[in-house]
Amino acid sequence: MSNPSSQPGVRVAKFGGTSVATAEQQLKVKNIINLDESRRFIIPSAPGKAFSDDIKITDLLYLAHDLAHNHQKLGDVWKTICKRFQDIIDELDNELQYPCDLQIHLDEVRDTIRSGKSTTAYVASRGEALNGYIIASLLNAEYVDAADVIRFDSKGCFDPCSYELIRNRCNDSEKKYVIPGFYGADVTGTIYTFSRGGSDVTGAIVAHAVDADVYENWTDVSGFLTTDPRIVPHARSITEITYRELRELSYMGASVLHEEAVFPVRDKSIPINIRNTNKPEDPGTIIVEDRDAGDQIVTGIAGKKGFNIFYIEKALMNNEIGFGRRVLDVFERHGISFEHMPSGIDTLSVVISDEALGNREDQILDDLKLLHPDQVSVYKGMALIATVGKGMNRAVGTAAKLFSALSLSEVNIRMIDQGSSEQNIIVGVEEKDTEAAICAIHDAFMGT
Ligand code: ADP
Ligand code: ASP
Ligand code: MG
Repeated sequence: MSNPSSQPGVRVAKFGGTSVATAEQQLKVKNIINLDESRRFIIPSAPGKAFSDDIKITDLLYLAHDLAHNHQKLGDVWKTICKRFQDIIDELDNELQYPCDLQIHLDEVRDTIRSGKSTTAYVASRGEALNGYIIASLLNAEYVDAADVIRFDSKGCFDPCSYELIRNRCNDSEKKYVIPGFYGADVTGTIYTFSRGGSDVTGAIVAHAVDADVYENWTDVSGFLTTDPRIVPHARSITEITYRELRELSYMGASVLHEEAVFPVRDKSIPINIRNTNKPEDPGTIIVEDRDAGDQIVTGIAGKKGFNIFYIEKALMNNEIGFGRRVLDVFERHGISFEHMPSGIDTLSVVISDEALGNREDQILDDLKLLHPDQVSVYKGMALIATVGKGMNRAVGTAAKLFSALSLSEVNIRMIDQGSSEQNIIVGVEEKDTEAAICAIHDAFMGT
């Protein structure tokens, strides 16, 4: 037995919801794992959508939990969950390397849900926990309950002591380990989950723990694309991108990788490779610490809806020492964090997400008025569009090109924020213009 970190060529392979949605997809996973014996740590999600109108197991579990809490019967929701798992097991049949009787576990979960005592996190996590049993049997791998190795503290934050727990638990270099994504537990065994899409985070944590050579993130697209393919179908796969570019894009809505998945691997300069389970021959995207941008200016574009822009105008604001601090103090007193704060000589905008603001808009406006501004207003229903590229800090005329593309598409810009890294220009537009803005910027920089 030896520490996995001392073995050369260890890879962590995380498979997303669509990659494990059906028996057919799970067989693709098996082929991928068998292609390279260094793929020893496998992080499965819960079965996702098998077709476009399908419902993810995780969403069905949230629904089951809500029904129980409203004292309603689990009925068809529970039947659908059981059938999805049973169909996968039946179809995999003799591909399974050891018996996989999920019914016992499903009954236990159902009884816990019905008792009304289960937490939302416990119920939501069962999709990964149960699917992990199937994948482990399919790959003849050892199942490791994430509750034993992914530790959360009593406030529900990730506890880095997990790294050692993973290393100690998965210390046989001859074995493959399946660790379900998305959840973990505190010392008392209470289950916590990361936010939605959080299996990406589990994969990154495991990659850090075992000093992986590569963190492979297997999904349903051939890498990180220049923008969301549902908005621009001709978006292209990006060969190489930096952690920083990726973080900016994923934070702003490029949902292919969870925005928090970058940190654990970046710490150790472990490259992330985003790959397509349906096209394993495609090289996908490599995410690295640094790269040569060449003459490419923009790497990618992403957009996110659900923001509010508080706009404050006051003549000679720049001479009034402490004004900015007093504005931010208003938000701080309400326990609200802000996303951006672009400023001009006499103007200041503070961008707040719907989620952070809640229904406190009027109180905030009243408090801001106490600072005697010339004008204060709020634009609701805003979207932020981020145009990101390492090459932007050297290129002249990038902003002009971007603004003229938006103006030609008749998109009204409410806010502009050029990040101090000079690798990012963020514009605030009305939500209804999100798709048009993304298309216009994409076509201006990437071609049609
Ligand atoms: P998984 O279930 O494998 O974790 P996700 O659904 O979380 O997959 O992420 C993959 C999806 O992200 C793609 O199918 C695509 O629709 C969407 N997406 C949004 N922006 C991008 C982007 N810039 N590049 C690639 N995919 C993107
Ligand atoms: N199954 C969880 C979700 O749907 C986590 C994940 O897929 O990464 O959000
Ligand atoms: Mg995902």
